[in-house]
Amino acid sequence: MATTTFTKKSLGLETSEPALTPPPAKGAQTNFAKKPKLGSGKSKKRDIPEGLWTKCPKCETMVFDKELDENLKVCPKCEYHFPIGARERIHSLVETCTFEEMDAEMTSVDPLKFIDKTPYPKRVQEHQTATNLKDAVLTGICKIGEHRVALGVMDFSFIAASLGSVVGEKLTRLIERATEKELPVIIISTSGGARMQEGMLSLMQMAKTSAALAYLAQRRLPYISMLTHPTTAGVMASYASLGDLILAEPGAMIGFAGPRVIKDTTQAELPPGFQTAEFLLDHGLIDAIVPRKEMKQRFIEYLDFLNGRQKVATAASA
Ligand SMILES: [Zn+2]
Repeated sequence: MATTTFTKKSLGLETSEPALTPPPAKGAQTNFAKKPKLGSGKSKKRDIPEGLWTKCPKCETMVFDKELDENLKVCPKCEYHFPIGARERIHSLVETCTFEEMDAEMTSVDPLKFIDKTPYPKRVQEHQTATNLKDAVLTGICKIGEHRVALGVMDFSFIAASLGSVVGEKLTRLIERATEKELPVIIISTSGGARMQEGMLSLMQMAKTSAALAYLAQRRLPYISMLTHPTTAGVMASYASLGDLILAEPGAMIGFAGPRVIKDTTQAELPPGFQTAEFLLDHGLIDAIVPRKEMKQRFIEYLDFLNGRQKVATAASA
């Protein structure tokens, strides 16, 4: 009896674990988890259970998913940075239980009644179900070290983190809140570009977010922009490139248009790797490359520095 209860309890706990834990292997059941009897003939399949291992696209090592999660989705062999979800990212950066999410329920409307392969509302809903997000950004006020920060984190798994009305409005409100409360802003970007299904309304978000950042700058409040793989198009052409400090993760692809479009437009030979974080650091577009595992500590150091400068500036103008 006691054993049965214990088994049930531990199974229940497994399902309610946070997203950092990999989901249990498909078809895992109480009995199945036990070692298969040798020579029983039942388990002829010796292949690796699906969803337990991930192949690193850079060094081709098979990495155990749990190890990958514990390493913040960075390959332990070659430091390749896998994509990471917005929630995991926030979890890795902010002090426990300090993230107060803003506009959590904000969701897209369908102003153009747009249909590509599927109607836009259906596409949004499918992504909401698949990602457990309402749209491609999470925003909120939190603490990183001793600093209270307005933090926005984008998630590529939601329609390629395209910049639609919801992303633009949530970030604008975040920046406005920071301006009002005199907080620094950190936005961690990733994006495939504008949300085509929202047409012109999507492009307007570029102007809106940039204008909000101008008011933030007027108040001499710091804004740190962190670019992650990939950050392109409308996002790169607006708030992602407006940081007082512009940082990037190693190996991140950063650019406006794709290489083929640039080559066709300029008719010029493009240097190898010209859209990587490393190339852009050498050419002065970004200020530093920050590995994911150092990110929290580096944010704290930068905020210490920027807040110190801000105090000096305020004292001088008083
Ligand atoms: Zn690797």
